Amino acid sequence: MAEKRDYYEVLGVSKDASADEIKKAYRKLALQYHPDRNPGDKAAEEKFKEAAEAYDVLSDENKRKRYDQFGFAAEQGGGFSGGGFSMEDIFRNFGDIFGGHFSSGGGFGDIFGDFFGGGGSSGNRVERGSDIRIRLKLTLEEIMTGVDKKVKINKMAPCPDCGGKGAASDADIKTCPDCQGSGYVIRQARSIFGITQTQSVCSRCGGNGKIITKPCRKCGGSGLVKAPEEIHFKVPAGVAEGMTLTVQGKGNAAPHGGINGDLQVLIEEEPHKEFVRDGNDLMYPLFISIPDAINGCEVEIPAIGGKIKVKIPAGCQSGKELRVRGKGIPDVNGYGRGDLMIYVQVWIPSRLASEEKKLVEKLKECDSFKPIPSGDDKKSFLSRIKGFFK
Ligand SMILES: [Zn+2]
Ligand SMILES: [Zn+2]
Repeated sequence: MAEKRDYYEVLGVSKDASADEIKKAYRKLALQYHPDRNPGDKAAEEKFKEAAEAYDVLSDENKRKRYDQFGFAAEQGGGFSGGGFSMEDIFRNFGDIFGGHFSSGGGFGDIFGDFFGGGGSSGNRVERGSDIRIRLKLTLEEIMTGVDKKVKINKMAPCPDCGGKGAASDADIKTCPDCQGSGYVIRQARSIFGITQTQSVCSRCGGNGKIITKPCRKCGGSGLVKAPEEIHFKVPAGVAEGMTLTVQGKGNAAPHGGINGDLQVLIEEEPHKEFVRDGNDLMYPLFISIPDAINGCEVEIPAIGGKIKVKIPAGCQSGKELRVRGKGIPDVNGYGRGDLMIYVQVWIPSRLASEEKKLVEKLKECDSFKPIPSGDDKKSFLSRIKGFFK
């Protein structure tokens, strides 16, 4: 995974390439490296997959935006085990899998439909299973370190009875008589410009090239059944609410041995009881007593992954901000870490015993307790207020 090439580099286009340029670049590569044209050539197959993955991301406006912003971290899932996951968090979209012969989201449909139709080559349409979307709640602790997760989801999988073919037996799969297995029908029309040929998807077999005479009883001919599967993937450190991780190939299976959809994991952050996240910084409100504010003190902050000792200087005003560098959240793309921001608030008691009241009255007579803010004090106070009401 470390050696993954940049998607733009894979397609050989610039970062600001138009949707059309991306599509053209992908077509060229897909034609060049398609397994049908390079039988048994592993390197070509890898190139084909690499291009398909790059196109899948760059052809989707949202995915492309996320990729531009977060790189592979936003788009990728890795392997293995981790915490729990509740079924209520899961929602699916099986909708388009049987709706037509192509999924609309993946972009494979229209590309393959176009160029194999036009070229009249041997390939049939490649079907793609739909993506599955789930929500994943993470704690700040998990986000700090990154985490391995496993989730159990109900998804479309190849039917165990027919092996995904959809037919009761191999003898029940016949070459489509309308298109002779090409998946396309050619019509010729005579006009003043001569003979024109048009190709369209065969309506009888839906571009598949094959028809099933006796459907499998378990799956009704679709070749797919719903089955639970445990999926393991890696969540990188530094992810944030609203990001989507794509675990490739872990969505719904496609009928008739097509390409699997993806699992899309939408990240949600659980509120933390001590900290509030601000980008990659963590904000921590710290209350100190009046004597501590006057004399200075050392306090322990319950930072994530161990406590931190912080020195509060003598004469600390309420609202003072202390920055502890590098104790925030790691950047999702590996650009360092955020900071821990401590917002000091001097605690003013609202109820006092009569003894205590007397002490305070005495303090009032001391000259040092009369407010005499400097110009700088006033300026920083006002700029803070302005910040609050922005
Ligand atoms: Zn079946
Ligand atoms: Zn047909």
